[in-house]
Amino acid sequence: MSKTIFQKIADGELPAQIVYQDEWVVAFRDINPQAPSHVLIVPRKPIRNLASVTPEDAPLLGHLMVKAAEVARQLGLAESGWRMVFNSGPNAGEAVPHLHGHILGGRKMGWPPG
Ligand code: 5GP
Repeated sequence: MSKTIFQKIADGELPAQIVYQDEWVVAFRDINPQAPSHVLIVPRKPIRNLASVTPEDAPLLGHLMVKAAEVARQLGLAESGWRMVFNSGPNAGEAVPHLHGHILGGRKMGWPPG
């Protein structure tokens, strides 16, 4: 299977504004930000979406969430608040088939999402 855009970013083959990376995850700024702070955090492992995870992915997903919170703190969002979004499948608007969490903050957000 060919690499997704996010796999290429994680592998250093496409440029991105990386804000955090380690052996398991990479976090980088969204190219089309929907909030003053909009960062995507992805596993290096090519998992399609949240609907595709298996029990063996639990440590990786736990790590991803812990690092998302660290990134949010690094972005200065801890006090004002932030949102984590995973779009999974067509109705949710999933556009890139490589699991990614959106870290959004810096403005007031509505609920429910549109
Ligand atoms: P989805 O709709 O799949 O949850 O979100 C995909 C996100 O990836 C969108 O917010 C879009 O702006 C972002 N995106 C798409 N292509 C690129 C890219 O090449 N670089 C970066 N940094 N973000 C991208």
